Amino acid sequence: MKSQKSNIKTTIFYITDNGFSLAKKIKRLYSDVEVLKFKAEAVSEVWNERGNLIFIMASGIVVRTVAPLIKDKRTDPAVVVLDEKGEFAVSLLSGHLGGANKLAKEIADFLNSKRGLAGETKSHPRTEAVITTASDTNNLPAIDLWAKERDLIIENREALPHIATRYLNNGELKIYSNIGISMPTGFQITDNPESADMLITNKNSLSAHAPIRPCTQLYLHPKNLIIGIGCNSGTSADEVEAAVKRALAEKNFSFLSIHSIATIDIKADEKGLNEFVREYGFFIKAFTAEELNKIGLESGVRSSEIVFKATGAYAVAEPSALLAAGADELLVRKQKIGNVTVAVAEKKLEVKGKIYIVGTGPGSVEHITPYAQKSIRNSDVIVGYGTYLELIKELIKDKEIVSTGMTQEIERCKKAVELAMSGRTVSVISGGDPGIYAMAGLVFETLKSKQSYVFVEVIPGISALNACAARLGAPLMHDFASISLSDRLTPWELIEKRLDAAAKADFVIILYNPKSKGRAEHIDRAREIILKCRKPETPAGIVKGAMRGDERVIITDLKNMLEHDIDMQTTVIIGNSQTFVWNNRMITPRGYEKKFRN
Ligand code: SAH
Repeated sequence: MKSQKSNIKTTIFYITDNGFSLAKKIKRLYSDVEVLKFKAEAVSEVWNERGNLIFIMASGIVVRTVAPLIKDKRTDPAVVVLDEKGEFAVSLLSGHLGGANKLAKEIADFLNSKRGLAGETKSHPRTEAVITTASDTNNLPAIDLWAKERDLIIENREALPHIATRYLNNGELKIYSNIGISMPTGFQITDNPESADMLITNKNSLSAHAPIRPCTQLYLHPKNLIIGIGCNSGTSADEVEAAVKRALAEKNFSFLSIHSIATIDIKADEKGLNEFVREYGFFIKAFTAEELNKIGLESGVRSSEIVFKATGAYAVAEPSALLAAGADELLVRKQKIGNVTVAVAEKKLEVKGKIYIVGTGPGSVEHITPYAQKSIRNSDVIVGYGTYLELIKELIKDKEIVSTGMTQEIERCKKAVELAMSGRTVSVISGGDPGIYAMAGLVFETLKSKQSYVFVEVIPGISALNACAARLGAPLMHDFASISLSDRLTPWELIEKRLDAAAKADFVIILYNPKSKGRAEHIDRAREIILKCRKPETPAGIVKGAMRGDERVIITDLKNMLEHDIDMQTTVIIGNSQTFVWNNRMITPRGYEKKFRN
């Protein structure tokens, strides 16, 4: 987008003396700027330079002057008009793509700032930026600008006004996307291309039954196809182009999605290939024979002795496409079309953000691994549930925090993914281990639904089962089953079935969430089920707040366990048929004692 930083030339036209003083002031905002006395001919001279145009005069004069010069909103310059008192900065033309909205806001901000007022003796009116483009006034992003900023190519521009109107009227659009990309407010992901308002894809059409309907669906193409090319000397640009188009058409890929061309270094100067690359403004990436030969046969690359004799590389099109894309597999295998060989690979679009899914252990900072602490320190934003964040407040005091209630896991995950897709490094905090009744799975599900490929790392933590077992002695020395008694996400019948199976199979049983929603009957019922297969004297350990200030450890048995306080901060471990208590420790034998006997 145009801005003062991007060396775009700015021309300011004035008519009156007052206009001239205002022009001199605005001039300080830009580096490459010219102030000119207004003349219609001077305007037409600078029009095609595509710079920013600022007029300090009546808007009628400006409209009449620029009307015959206006061609296309993709190329027309930004036009901003100010009255000579500087009360209004009106974005008149090329509001979005040309950057006039931004320019008007920039000028208003500057004139209202201390720097803009410097040297002012009389009081200066406040400048207001006047923006009339609909999407700005509704606070929704303009689709074309959003697409341009993400380097997405709009295939059927004629659909844009229809889709934009739908967006403004409904406040949302259904988007089908097969690339990972962050979506602004109101862009709802759909899995069904047929029902989408907008499709982000490198394919030409997503269904044979639904060819592009020009005004009902907007097609945006990411530039993520790498075309590997090998060709004989003297092949013309037209032949190269025809071959590329044919290879893409074979699998219905869009020519607009081409990111770059890859080949071997000795072909990089081929006249025809270069003409083709220049014509479309593609990049060309050339590899040496040695680099190409490193791509092994396991990638499916087919080698040819003839190509080797001519170039020193066993293959050109396929390995160069794979190398330039950083991909493991080809989208289109090598096609030999006349004098040209073509292969296609897909480049993963980079998303810069990161998500660490961090387990912070049972409570105290000492029980968080140094690696997890480092990840938290390296994050910009911490997302988590209030109680867990409270436990690690020392570690996160200078971080941006997004905290939600306990049952708002989905909200938390969505927020984390959005933040990461906007380029931030986010730690999603779970108590204990993040992969045990916690956030890790949900983060992946959210990423999958958004087709987002941000970097993710799951960082383990000490789970309640480790912490509580350690406090009790060694109850988990043999096979164990962990069962959560929370029926918030699991039907109670299934929980009973698992309790029954684990009891029958003589597993040591760890009960997480023993009093979900404060419901006492869950733990009562669990005990009843286990008692069907286990003696009342079977040891039971109850640990509340392991490794926290209010820790409490009780060793009892199945018969008496309900006499003790069991709440949501508690984990209960029930021994198997061999578990015993010695010296106030709960121990499940591993089987060594049989060895001792021999
Ligand atoms: N991800 C966590 C579990 C979350 S489910 C982990 O790996 O530990 C929440 C349940 O974990 C609680 O109801 C309780 O049963 C158990 N829990 C978590 N922290 C605990 C602690 N410090 N002491 C005892 N039980 C705990």
